[in-house]
Amino acid sequence: MDHPSSTAQRTTVAIVGAGMAGLIAARELRREDIEVLVLESAPRVGGRMTAETSELGSRVDLGGQWVGHGHHRFEALAAELGTTVYPMHTPRRPVILYEGRALSAIRPATVVANLALLAFEVKTKVREPRGWTTLTVDEWIRKFPSATARRLLEVIAAVATTADLDRISMRAFAAMTRYQGGISTMLATRGGAQDALIVEGAGTLTERLAAELAPRVLLNTPVTSIDYDERGATVRSPSVLVRADKVIVCVPPPPLLGAVTFEPALPPRLARLQHEMYMGSVYKAMAVYREPFWRGRAEAEHMLLDEPGAAVFDTSPPDGPGHLCILVGGKEARTLDAMTPTARKRALLERLGAALHSAAILDPVGWHEKSWQLDEYVGGGYLALPDATTAAGIFPLPSDPLAETLYWAGTETAGEHAGYIEGAIESGERVARQVVAGLR
Ligand SMILES: Cc1cc2nc3c(=O)[nH]c(=O)nc-3n(C[C@H](O)[C@H](O)[C@H](O)COP(=O)(O)OP(=O)(O)OC[C@H]3O[C@@H](n4cnc5c(N)ncnc54)[C@H](O)[C@@H]3O)c2cc1C
Repeated sequence: MDHPSSTAQRTTVAIVGAGMAGLIAARELRREDIEVLVLESAPRVGGRMTAETSELGSRVDLGGQWVGHGHHRFEALAAELGTTVYPMHTPRRPVILYEGRALSAIRPATVVANLALLAFEVKTKVREPRGWTTLTVDEWIRKFPSATARRLLEVIAAVATTADLDRISMRAFAAMTRYQGGISTMLATRGGAQDALIVEGAGTLTERLAAELAPRVLLNTPVTSIDYDERGATVRSPSVLVRADKVIVCVPPPPLLGAVTFEPALPPRLARLQHEMYMGSVYKAMAVYREPFWRGRAEAEHMLLDEPGAAVFDTSPPDGPGHLCILVGGKEARTLDAMTPTARKRALLERLGAALHSAAILDPVGWHEKSWQLDEYVGGGYLALPDATTAAGIFPLPSDPLAETLYWAGTETAGEHAGYIEGAIESGERVARQVVAGLR
């Protein structure tokens, strides 16, 4: 049904979602002189990427930020948009803290956890056990006799995947790691997925892309229905009705399928993703200090195993100020939602202050945080995950067009680096090529 106060517009390609994938698709199509209109439900662009300016003027990313090693599209885009990439400051390995003590790398529990990850890596590359289809990551971890090794694996898996570990199968975990370059690459800083950062903030890239496209990006425009057939599509939101030759949907299934009605209905293999996928849970905080004062005496990269389990990284830009990035993934991210901001900050910084022997850690100049599972537009992060009970939604998600009119992009549909910004860029470029070919 048409919304009574909506205005009608006509375009060649309507794009749903102004995250990285949607903005890249729009930019590629504009380069071919094709008219586009990007409809975005949120009052800002960027989706799972967003940067804020700190009290000291530096930029802090609350969403995607790291340029992974070999993420060439992302690196090229950062250079093209005039931003500065800098390498991560990182020790050889993080300090693992549990029950007030640092766990050494040769402690049996640490060795067991590392061997478990190594065996997992080999099996994902050589031959995946059949039992992984029904075994959850949580059940796999429970098999290890050492409680400390189990806890270490639990925190690593939760921060790496943002999944509820009893709600993701080993098969899905294995597929994810394959698409993301292997578990050791996913966990590594330099030379791995956390290789480099952008001084101006990765979120700046989506802001700059949108600025180039203005006024073709409509904010506060949630799409509610898409009617499509071989002749084109009608895309509706409360404020605008768009008639287009082609539509590109750049929204992951969990936030999309509950909010948008398709006519004709999507084929069952796509429609079922609404019930068989969920967005990961992730809390991210950035603590800002006048300088990275801890560096002279210690490194700040830590795995904190007491609840809530967290990973801490020193993401300070080259000329300061000091930035500490804290990530809590999976179920434990949601436990933070019930706390006050002050209690959250204390719970996360106190253990670090004790480890670095510094009360100053408890008192940052700035504290920026975001619980992505509470974001009403994207519904979580880092990515959409398949439920443990299903084979649907295991990477890569289907991206073949429907009725030669409805096209799909978004990081979850990427052929490589799915789940990352690189995957979002790849999918945006791929879908633009498909649409250009379709229009011809
Ligand atoms: C905390 C966090 C840390 C991360 N860290 C990294 C990292 O360091 N490096 C990395 O490479 N990746 C990282 N990621 C992942 C990365 O951010 C994502 O892969 C990428 O941003 C996804 O882009 P996208 O365009 O596919 O989807 P999104 O960014 O999700 O874009 C979808 C857009 O669609 C909009 N939308 C939803 N419903 C509708 C509707 N009905 N109508 C209109 N619009 C709608 C949403 O508001 C959103 O803007 C991280 C993610 C998070 C959350």
